[in-house]
Amino acid sequence: MSKCPFCMIATHELPSEIIHEDEHVVAFMDVNPIADGHVLVIPRRHAENLHAIDPEDLQRVVVTAKRIAAVVQSELRPDGINLFQANGRGAGQTVFHLHMHVLPRSIDDGMPMSWDHKPGDRARIAEVAGILRGALARSETGIDMAEPVA
Ligand code: 5GP
Ligand code: ZN
Repeated sequence: MSKCPFCMIATHELPSEIIHEDEHVVAFMDVNPIADGHVLVIPRRHAENLHAIDPEDLQRVVVTAKRIAAVVQSELRPDGINLFQANGRGAGQTVFHLHMHVLPRSIDDGMPMSWDHKPGDRARIAEVAGILRGALARSETGIDMAEPVA
């Protein structure tokens, strides 16, 4: 099996434009940027996705993404920034080492700003809320229940 490309970026076996690295995380430029300043933040320790990652590593990724977003905002002045993170092929994940996109946005970049805000079926919303409340109550932390997705 070929080695995970983001593990290879973390070990410098694969070249990339790293802008920050420490013991736990690496931040580097996306090679197919949607805009100037499109950065990926990864945990150094391999984890496929949100369900697999150690919560402390996730905290480090998110805190680093906040730091990167701050310098992207101050240096490049986008109209806004999205943090984006995909889990599973169905959500658009293409590299199976968790990564947080820091996505600089502009009003006219052609990407969706948000989804249609059409009112949902209140009964169904309440039903789903009940399912999730029950599952959270049965789990100790609410973070370790999902099956891995790909
Ligand atoms: P995903 O679609 O999984 O959310 O995002 C994967 C991202 O990784 C894509 O935006 C893609 O451009 C980026 N990417 C894939 N391979 C490489 C690579 O070898 N180097 C860098 N710098 N970015 C990569
Ligand atoms: Zn990896």
